[in-house]
Amino acid sequence: MAKTLTKNKQMVQYREALREKAQELRRNISSLAASEIVAHREEPNDVVDLAGQSHEEWLFLNRNAQNIALLRQVNEALERIDEGTYSVCAGCDQPISPKRLAAVPWAKYCIGCQEKHGSWTN
Ligand SMILES: [Zn+2]
Repeated sequence: MAKTLTKNKQMVQYREALREKAQELRRNISSLAASEIVAHREEPNDVVDLAGQSHEEWLFLNRNAQNIALLRQVNEALERIDEGTYSVCAGCDQPISPKRLAAVPWAKYCIGCQEKHGSWTN
């Protein structure tokens, strides 16, 4: 009983952390989108500007894609809290260590499985 209560309290904390992260990511995504609109208002005048702009655009798309991918992981973690499958590794069904969840609350895999799947988190 006491253990269940502790677990519920932890879930509330994880949920809070995930919601904060989701908000932060949404802010990042919208401010990146806004800066892209500003950047596109100026027409490139010569080849040098064009090259610069392409690079900026690439950076923007790359960063935004990372934010969007991370936001998806955060949202999936929130769904797992609702489903009751949160903090269980999706690869081996073993509990993910609280230390790992404190650092990466949206972790879907334990460290062992994460290494097998490659480093797409963070
Ligand atoms: Zn695992």
